Formats: sequence, C-alpha cells, structure tokens
Amino acid sequence: MAETVSGNRGLLIEEKLIFEQDSPGHTGVDLPEPEAVNDRLGGLRRQGPIGLPGLSEPQVIRHYTRLSQKNYGIDSGFYPLGSCTMKHNPRLNERMARLPGFADIHPFQPQSTVQGGLELIHSLAEWLKALTGMPAVAMTPAAGAHGELCGLMTIRAAHEDKGETQRSRVLVPESAHGTNPATAAACGYSVESIPANDRGRVDLAALKAKLGPDVAAIMLTNPNTCGLFENEIIEIAEVVHQAGAYFYCDGANFNAIVGRLRIADLGIDCMHINLHKTFSTPHGGGGPGAGPTVLSEALAPYAPLPVVVQDEDGFRLIEHAHDWQDGKPLGRLKGYHGQFGVFVRALSYILSMGADGLAQASGDAVLNANYLLARLGDVLTPSFDGPCMHEALFDDRFLKDTGVTTLDFAKALIDEGVHPMTMYFPLVVHGALLMEPTETESKATLDGFIAVVRALAERAKAGDAEYFKQAPRLTPRRRLDETKAARSPVLRWTPPPEDKAAE
Ligand SMILES: *Cc1c(COP(=O)(O)O)cnc(C)c1O
Repeated sequence: MAETVSGNRGLLIEEKLIFEQDSPGHTGVDLPEPEAVNDRLGGLRRQGPIGLPGLSEPQVIRHYTRLSQKNYGIDSGFYPLGSCTMKHNPRLNERMARLPGFADIHPFQPQSTVQGGLELIHSLAEWLKALTGMPAVAMTPAAGAHGELCGLMTIRAAHEDKGETQRSRVLVPESAHGTNPATAAACGYSVESIPANDRGRVDLAALKAKLGPDVAAIMLTNPNTCGLFENEIIEIAEVVHQAGAYFYCDGANFNAIVGRLRIADLGIDCMHINLHKTFSTPHGGGGPGAGPTVLSEALAPYAPLPVVVQDEDGFRLIEHAHDWQDGKPLGRLKGYHGQFGVFVRALSYILSMGADGLAQASGDAVLNANYLLARLGDVLTPSFDGPCMHEALFDDRFLKDTGVTTLDFAKALIDEGVHPMTMYFPLVVHGALLMEPTETESKATLDGFIAVVRALAERAKAGDAEYFKQAPRLTPRRRLDETKAARSPVLRWTPPPEDKAAE
C-alpha cells in the first residue's frame, strides 16, 4: 500500500489530537490585557495555566469538522447493526424538539406554566398504553436498561407487598441482551439461564423445570435477539403466572411488532420501550434515550414517581406518595420528569406516522430483514429455518475452513464503506452476524449491501484469507486492540516526555 508523505490519504486527513496541535500563544480571540484586579480568591487563585492548547479559530473549526467527518452514522449510510434498531430520524422530530416552548422550559417551573409540556408527556403515555394495550406506563426511566431496573424493582415491590420475600431467582434466556442478567443481579436476584431450543426460541420444557416458588420473574425479549418471534409466548406467560412469578418483556425489539399485536394480549406484566430505537430518536455512543415501562394492573400501583395525571384543572404531576391514592410507588428513579427531549421526538414521530403508518413501518422492517435473509441465505449460513422478524441472523459456518473469522469479514465490509452488522451476538450461535435493516432502507440500498456481502463471501470461500486478515486497509486506523481499548482506555492526554523536560 502506497504511503503518503503527510500520512493523509486523499481527502482523509490524518488528524492529530487537539493538544498535539498546540501552538503556544495562538488564540482565536484578541482581547485587551485585563487591568489588574484585586480578586477575592485568597489562596485559591490558580497558580499556572490550565493547559489548554493554543489554537486559532480556523484550526479549531477544521479540527472538529474533520472529526465529525470521521464519524459514520445513520445519516452517512446503511447501518445494519442488529439489536440496536438504528433507524432514520425524521428531521421533523428535531424541529419539534427545538421549539422554544419545549426546549426552553425548566422542570422547576410552576406546573401552571408548563401545561403543554405535561400534556405532551401525558399524550405520549396514552399512545404507549394504546400501542401495547397495557393499563399503565412509568415514563421516567432514561434508557432501556433503566426501564429493566424499573420493571424489576416494581416486580420486587409487588412480591414484597404480598409477603413473598422468598422469591430470589430470575430466569433469563441464553439469547438475552447483557443488560437483562445485569439488571436482575443489580436488584439482588440470582440469575438463571434458560437454554434455547434448536428453533432459536426458549426451551419451554427447560423453563418449566426451572420454575418454582422462589422464582420472581422471567425476563424475555420478544421478538428475541435471534430476530425470531417467541411463538409459545402465551404458554410461557401461563406457566410463569402459575408459578406466581411475573413476566418481564424486554421491548427493545418493539419496532418489529408495533401496530401488529398488543403486548397485553400476550400475558406480559411489564415491558420497557426504547423510544430511541422504535420511535426514532437518534442514539449511539451512550445516549440520549428513554425507556418508558408499561405495567399491568398488578404492577401499576408500584410505578415510580412522578406520574402525570389529567383532571378538571388540567395536567398535574403527582410527586409524592401521599398524593397518590391508589399507589404504593417504589420511589423515584430519575431526577425531574424523564427525558423530555426524547419524548418530544417520539410523539412527533408517532403523530406524523399515525397508527396506520406505525403498523406499516413494522411490516416494512420485517419485509426488509426477510429480503436480506432470502438474498443472502445461499452464500451465508442462516442460523435457523424459516422467516425472521426484523433482523436476520447468520452464523459463521459459511466461513468454515476458510481461515476467515466473523471479525475479519466485518473488517472487510468497512473497506467497502459499509458499517458492519452486529457480530458475535447473540451468543447462542457461533460467530453470529446479526443484521437489522429497518423500514426506511430502500431496495436499492439493500441490493448494494447484498452485492458487497455476496462478493466478500465468495472471496472468502475462494481461499483469499490474507485479504481479510489485512482488512480494513482504507481506514485512518486499521486493526485496533479492541480489548485493551475497552479494558484500559486512555482517557487523558499527557504531554510527550521531551515537552516535560523543556518546562
Ligand atoms: C438496546 C437493548 C437493551 C438496552 O437498552 P438501552 O437503551 O441501550 O439501555 C436491552 N435489550 C435489548 C434486546 C436491546 O437491544
């Protein structure tokens, strides 16, 4: 590969850290020397400079613009990451979230001055209840994982209220997202794994064998993380309830079923909804999100505060247990009233789609995933027979004896300008490749992706392992030590030793 003098590759600029670009004395502003002032900081006055780099305004603009150009997102291209539902975010939602009446209000304002904001939370709550058929929803959880915490804390409160404090186990299928067992453990439960059957669903017999009077709940994802509908879910709910346990559903995959079925009809007691996945708020890099959690009649009284209610005087927040007649709230899960900006985006999305549009979106998402499954099924190895829901799951059997791994394959996709799919998750299949195309990707986009994946699969099978081991070739950085980056991240820049010596 040809090296360049500068380290740049065409218009892909080799970007140094902003501290490495420091030219002492440079500044973006030109202020007069301050007059001598008598500060009142006493001994707290700073003794030396704080170490900000010296940069002109154009240097700063270029640095951050270049960094932004290195960022691949849903607005740059196809993002087939499974389990995360990376979908197009209509700009209308952003316009709505920036309206001063929404963006500039403060949670400490008197409630009479934020009636519109409270109405928005209330309307969104009504939509979420209608879409799931559930009687109540806790709006404050700030993410899916936080919704899980809300759900399990509600379940724990309900058991304790009945005096059933012996319930110490939570059952979680093998294919679950890591947040499920983590949440159960955080709530003090011991976690037991339920195996999957050879159809990628929960093994009902194994589940029955594990149920007992010490089980508090099952946490199940539907559609599950293999992209499959748990088609014995009604029976699962029945046996769980017979054992006196509650049924928690991880609703992160709600995008596949919105407008198609009502969660309440499946016998589910609570489910979080990732507004940032299903209802189109941009997410990634850890936020922002929102995880409202719908609750059955049995769990509704334990919901966390605050709750927005409507009465003859308008909308009102119930913030204290003594103001809530039928409630035995578990307390508060979050400061203020929830992720308001995310609520605005989600309601804007819901209202602009309408009930019919939401049902069509889930149908199109499932259609797109099945198109990938059908067009790639002969070169990759689908993990399970039959159609899928919103995501298509393959394993690495198609790479057997090629010397190429799932990771190598994903790295080669980057050279083609395609963001890799989810790799090595779910854990129930070997070397997983999980693809979720969502509803807004066109047939042309999917065909382009299919052509790339097919060509790479054929290349791997033709014995060109070296090509894959070298990938990615065209990125600013190539193979990183991802384990080291995750386990011991370098979060602080320290000046190189020679600078220290010069000081
Ligand atoms: C994304 C996801 C979660 C966690 O949601 P966050 O909003 O990231 O906390 C839980 N379960 C599944 C299946 C998910 O895909």
